[in-house]
Amino acid sequence: MRFDSLIIGGGLAGLVCGIRLAEEGLRCAIISRGQSALHFSSGSLDLLAELPDGTPVTSPLNALEALNKQAPEHPYSLMGAENVRHFAAESEALLARCHLNLQGSYQQNHQRITPLGTQRATWLSPEEIPTATLGWKRITVVGIAGFLDFQPELVAGSLAENHIEVRTAELTLPALDTLRNNPSEFRAANIARVLDMPEQQRLLIDELKALAINTDGLFLPACLGSEDSQTWQAISRQLPCPLRLLPTLPPSVLGMRMHHQLRRRFLQLGGIMMPGDAVLRTQIEQQKVTAVFTRNHAEVPLQSNNVILASGSFFSNGLEAKFSGIREPIFGLDIRAPEQRDAWCKEDFFSPQPYLQAGVIVDEHFQPRLNGQRIENLYAIGSILAGFDPIQQGCGAGVSMTGALHVARQIIDNHGGNA
Ligand SMILES: Cc1cc2nc3c(=O)[nH]c(=O)nc-3n(C[C@H](O)[C@H](O)[C@H](O)COP(=O)(O)OP(=O)(O)OC[C@H]3O[C@@H](n4cnc5c(N)ncnc54)[C@H](O)[C@@H]3O)c2cc1C
Repeated sequence: MRFDSLIIGGGLAGLVCGIRLAEEGLRCAIISRGQSALHFSSGSLDLLAELPDGTPVTSPLNALEALNKQAPEHPYSLMGAENVRHFAAESEALLARCHLNLQGSYQQNHQRITPLGTQRATWLSPEEIPTATLGWKRITVVGIAGFLDFQPELVAGSLAENHIEVRTAELTLPALDTLRNNPSEFRAANIARVLDMPEQQRLLIDELKALAINTDGLFLPACLGSEDSQTWQAISRQLPCPLRLLPTLPPSVLGMRMHHQLRRRFLQLGGIMMPGDAVLRTQIEQQKVTAVFTRNHAEVPLQSNNVILASGSFFSNGLEAKFSGIREPIFGLDIRAPEQRDAWCKEDFFSPQPYLQAGVIVDEHFQPRLNGQRIENLYAIGSILAGFDPIQQGCGAGVSMTGALHVARQIIDNHGGNA
């Protein structure tokens, strides 16, 4: 089987790259072993929330010069400020083409309300996520009886510190009793499957209406709308006050929905998805990847003009930490990581952890190296890259998306040149 581009990993980076390439008519396949970080994410996309020295960022683009000085190996510094700006804008347009209704802009971070009731700077959030600009003075935080992945009292405690009058309440929703009987099944994604059914929405609306009195708005855990935001919109229209959804512990309905919508767009464009398959080994000849072998294609090699490694960080096993060191398991690419094992982590759990900056070394084209040599048709994108800390710097989605589009741009330009 032969492709223009073969992408290893179907998380945010792999899907965005695949969509852009498929939009330009390139024959593109994504091999993806399992769930991605999106399934566990807040559903909000971060661009740059804090500099490495801890300075908070309000306008990500204005902070790129300082970032370049503090972290010259950061993927944004390698790509260059103009490319970050260009591909951040292009990311927003691509997400809109995937019918993702998001609030926010790359010009300015907004503060989203977290499941702990605190505020966190981010780039784009699903439209149903509450932000600090709401200005509501009286909020009712509504939990679901027996659902432990969302604690209304925690949210209420933090909101009250900001001089907001907060009430908590609980929905009973007997339709959820079957799930409730099995605590391991009583998770956000399963609840959404029940509440997305039109016949259940009437009962939910009735319970919410009873709570929508003497309050500026309702907060509910994000257990609605597995496929899109229409359920939330339909319910909101029936209520006398606005309704907003807060992300829950994983699995995250908002993150999963984003994954579905990106995947759907890729497939609609004619992209080939190989879910549940895993790249086991590759063949490199004369500094080019000439064949990729997967669990399901162990004998028949997959061949491609370009190979894009988007297999994620430790969380997705795109990187592995062994006693001997940190390694990239598919190609064995050159890695940047603290040499001494005891320097990987800091004892203080809440301080930035050095292992998070470990990853594959790339040049300004996002091309990695194997034993110091560039592989001509190989690129690396997303959280597998070295030089950034997605948690402390709040830049995970931005690095994944802008990097994916940076690489897609080069492949498209080269393809045009070859045509
Ligand atoms: C738990 C968690 C929550 C996060 N939440 C947020 C958030 O709310 N906002 C934000 O901006 N950022 C968040 N991040 C940062 C996140 O890393 C990026 O935003 C981004 O989603 C990473 O995408 P990725 O495509 O690089 O990697 P991943 O999403 O990890 O995807 C990698 C994919 O590659 C596949 N894969 C790995 N090895 C192979 C193989 N050999 N063969 C085939 N497939 C393979 C994996 O199964 C996986 O599907 C979060 C990260 C984690 C770990």
